Amino acid sequence: MSLPDTAPGLGKLERGPAGLGLWQQPVRPPAPGEVTIEVIAAGICGTDLHIADDEFPSEPPVTMGHEVTGEVAVVGDEVSDGWLGRRVAVETYYSYCEACEYCRAGYPNLCSQRRSIGSRENGGFTRWLTVPARNLHELPSSVGRHAGALAEPLACVANLLFDPPVISPGDSVLVIGPGTMGVLTAQAAQLAGGRVLLVGLERDRARLELAASLGIVTHILKAGEQPAFDPPDVVCECSGAGPGAVLGFEMLGSRGHYVQVGIFGAPVTVPLDAILYKEATVTSGNASTPASWRRAMRLLGEGIELDPLVTAVVGLDQWEQAFAATRAGEGMKYVLDPREDA
Ligand SMILES: [Zn+2]
Ligand SMILES: [Zn+2]
Repeated sequence: MSLPDTAPGLGKLERGPAGLGLWQQPVRPPAPGEVTIEVIAAGICGTDLHIADDEFPSEPPVTMGHEVTGEVAVVGDEVSDGWLGRRVAVETYYSYCEACEYCRAGYPNLCSQRRSIGSRENGGFTRWLTVPARNLHELPSSVGRHAGALAEPLACVANLLFDPPVISPGDSVLVIGPGTMGVLTAQAAQLAGGRVLLVGLERDRARLELAASLGIVTHILKAGEQPAFDPPDVVCECSGAGPGAVLGFEMLGSRGHYVQVGIFGAPVTVPLDAILYKEATVTSGNASTPASWRRAMRLLGEGIELDPLVTAVVGLDQWEQAFAATRAGEGMKYVLDPREDA
């Protein structure tokens, strides 16, 4: 198959609030060890909003999109032809140093030299994406074509919750914030044996109803309310908003475990004395690792559902509406299908 020289991509083209837009980006054929994927879908995520707002590092001009699924269209030298036509999701690290203690320990996410797709290397908001073959994970047939884009956030959840494991069977788990990460976190926590309560605000009503349809117990918080729930053994703060973190530290049970899932994008004020008085443990996870990807792929066969989380599939030319809806918290996950306007 012959690739075009360029293709439309949605990129961070320059710094500042007007920095996003469509551009004609170069299409690079695969080097040895690489493949080119025909993108089926790439999800819009909170990180993309932070990139748009210059709150997350990027190197413009760069095509965004790090939650990617597609079909392997071209393989480079040293890559098995067996990959051709397979439906995959891709790890986000385009390159890393491979020599530092983090790379050697299996944590390329913590390598200071890492270059990820969608922020420093061209990502998946375009039709043709060239990535290292080592980043590929074949998707099970149970995952819908566009929903495969949610494998990446699930790999992040697997890193946050299971490396090392923070949930034991029977734990009460409070999940704050019913966005994509919150609903995936709630599903994974339940699968790990946690008794989960997912909370949100009145404006999250539709998201909470969707979560409830997946078998998750939900609650709409009124202003200043603490929901009736056992002091949580585990709090997963998925809103990335200051009041969510405050609620989490206030409700956390003694010797409990607080997991920061959401990104605030700026300093927030939280009662850190709770860590001392409650002898709390605080952990987080920075994106995903090869191990968390392997676990996420196995979780897909164990009852984690991705398909219901896809709110809408839109072409690249409708990116502004999809970003605006994501920013407004409408629906759950919007995915761009770059073939829609091809
Ligand atoms: Zn993301
Ligand atoms: Zn490194």
